[in-house]
Amino acid sequence: MSTLPNYATGQHFETTFTHGLPALLYHKIDRFKFGVRRRGLYVSPLSFRTQMHRLRRAGFCTTIVSTREQLEGSRKIIITFDDGFASVLKNGAPALNECGFQAINFLVSGQLGGTSTWDNADGERLEPLMDTAQVRDWLAAGHDIGAHTVTHAHLTQLPLATAREEITASKKMLEDLFSRAVTDFAYPYGEMNPVVRALVAEAGFERAWSVEPKVITRNTDPFALPRFPVVVSLRQPLNLLRSFR
Ligand SMILES: [Zn+2]
Repeated sequence: MSTLPNYATGQHFETTFTHGLPALLYHKIDRFKFGVRRRGLYVSPLSFRTQMHRLRRAGFCTTIVSTREQLEGSRKIIITFDDGFASVLKNGAPALNECGFQAINFLVSGQLGGTSTWDNADGERLEPLMDTAQVRDWLAAGHDIGAHTVTHAHLTQLPLATAREEITASKKMLEDLFSRAVTDFAYPYGEMNPVVRALVAEAGFERAWSVEPKVITRNTDPFALPRFPVVVSLRQPLNLLRSFR
């Protein structure tokens, strides 16, 4: 993993990202709080803003759809968020707007306006998720939404019928609520296998996103699109200090 670019400081991304279309994965744009276990999933508002402006200065513009045409052009990037955290709208959207960037947030359709209750299992601090009005604000700002199951399910561990329902119902719920086509899906926990992949394709999605630090190329499976997770590492003391401020 030594070659994994350090996005918190923007190091190396320019060379890595010239070989294909990169997609970034964020979760929460917020400072650490008491009781947080997986600190890496919190990117501070200041760090996020710095990263967006650094990409902008380097000449990147955002795209949401990884079509063949998008792969041709250089300096494109896809910015994604998983889970639909309210902190992204509050603390991340302004920086995206400043840079003229558009992003996609993958929503847990059965938890809108609730909290990240799936994190209860390991005692993680629960954080608020966007409610329908906030999702509408997100969409009105020019951003997109995708599906991330109804309950943030471990799809590979479920009976087939239950997994199918998690996938298809999340698409339908979001389409009914927001009156727009939902074409993209993100696998919760990045967990997928050929059966789950087939269910997602069968449900009518056009693309599905996983987690892997690779760029998208012409040969990439559209139902296994890689994303670079942007995490705050303990090896980035500067970033930690910023987050505690
Ligand atoms: Zn998730």
